[in-house]
Amino acid sequence: MADRVLVIGSGGREHALAWKLAQSPHVKQVLVAPGNAGTANNGKISNSAVLVSNHTILAQFCKDHNIGLVVVGPEALLGAGIVDDLMSAGVRCFGPSAKAAQLETNTSFAKAFLDRHKIPTARWEAFDNLQEACSFITITDFPALVIKACGPGGKKEIIFASSKAEACRTVQEILQDKMFGEAGERIVIEELLKGEELSCLCFTDGVTVAPMPPVQAHKRLRDGDQGPNTAGMGAYCPAPQIPEALLERIKDSVLQNVVDGMRQEGATYVGVLQTGLMCIKDDVKILNFSCHFGDPQCQVILPLLKNDLYEVIQATIDGKLSSCLPAWSENCTAVSVVMASEGYPGDYAKGMEVTGLLQAKDLGLEVFHAGTAMQDDKVVIDGGRVLTVTAVKEDLMSALEEAKKGVAAIQFKGAIYRKDIGYSAIAFFQQSEGQLHDD
Ligand code: AMP
Repeated sequence: MADRVLVIGSGGREHALAWKLAQSPHVKQVLVAPGNAGTANNGKISNSAVLVSNHTILAQFCKDHNIGLVVVGPEALLGAGIVDDLMSAGVRCFGPSAKAAQLETNTSFAKAFLDRHKIPTARWEAFDNLQEACSFITITDFPALVIKACGPGGKKEIIFASSKAEACRTVQEILQDKMFGEAGERIVIEELLKGEELSCLCFTDGVTVAPMPPVQAHKRLRDGDQGPNTAGMGAYCPAPQIPEALLERIKDSVLQNVVDGMRQEGATYVGVLQTGLMCIKDDVKILNFSCHFGDPQCQVILPLLKNDLYEVIQATIDGKLSSCLPAWSENCTAVSVVMASEGYPGDYAKGMEVTGLLQAKDLGLEVFHAGTAMQDDKVVIDGGRVLTVTAVKEDLMSALEEAKKGVAAIQFKGAIYRKDIGYSAIAFFQQSEGQLHDD
């Protein structure tokens, strides 16, 4: 019998999850709470106003509406124990428990875990005392410093300090002047790593690890990785910069090691695990974990998944992932370009109409909505990152060309987007070709 699924969240990631789940013959309806204009009355997909922060109300809603599976997007809910609460109320929910989600929600836990299991990461120390933090900064040989506020509440803040004096000032502002409130009650001071940042993700049922193809997401607002950090301005998958042998090593000595370590420590990790990696020559160091699909990563990975996502998720929850391993489209690259509102990531206006969506669809592109809403039958801007145009083609250059056509077709006042998505992969291909000629 076909199932009803509830996807929680309102971004491009949730639109992509709903889009992929709706393709399953096992799924008769996908509700998205709260969703956006792209998930409002779109075939099998529609929005729901159910209150997701109250897990008791949510569990009752799922029972009343015959929801057979809940898929959670945002990490804050995972950190708040939504999976624990729904599963113990008898509602199947995909994602890690709050204890396992600490890999993302508690930076000092994650760093200590990595050290315990000898998984390479940036050198670090944690502090809640200003004097001790400043003494450490004075004597450390870290060439440059990153300061992460990671106190209670799960909210994370990060500051890159260019000198020891700046690092001390920052630490004072965080620990003494409480510039980040309770998030600044504890800090991690790390060495700054330089290299190529990529994401490697896997599905895991707590024992088996099923890796996904590597992704590079572009975090900075402007071309050339300039401007402020954002939640992502685009991505591509697979990222060619990681050679096959290194991918194998990441699977065994990073992903499998993390999953085994969590299980051994009594915090079995079930769900999607995303690692942020800094690739430094032929080596990698873990920068961070996400206990779910990252938003840009999800939108380029799911279009390459050949299997039924619903089946993979159910097998993962049941501890049977080894019998339903995901397969990935070969000789295909997915590229996504985010179109954002003028002013993002600062203030921006809402309510302006978005046009050209059907033209982009006619080009064979997927448009995943994020900050959009329906107003009098029109799609209007309702957020900073408005939507993502995703193209899948036989190679990166062709996918980029297609995505650009989609971006040109879609219009809204003040739209901003990056024109250099994938530049590092293009440089990598050019370099590899140059080497071939030289040989
Ligand atoms: P986090 O707050 O740990 O999730 O990190 C957010 C982002 O900051 C990462 O995705 C990196 O781009 C950057 N970052 C974090 N830690 C480091 C580090 N030690 N060296 C260089 N960049 C970092």
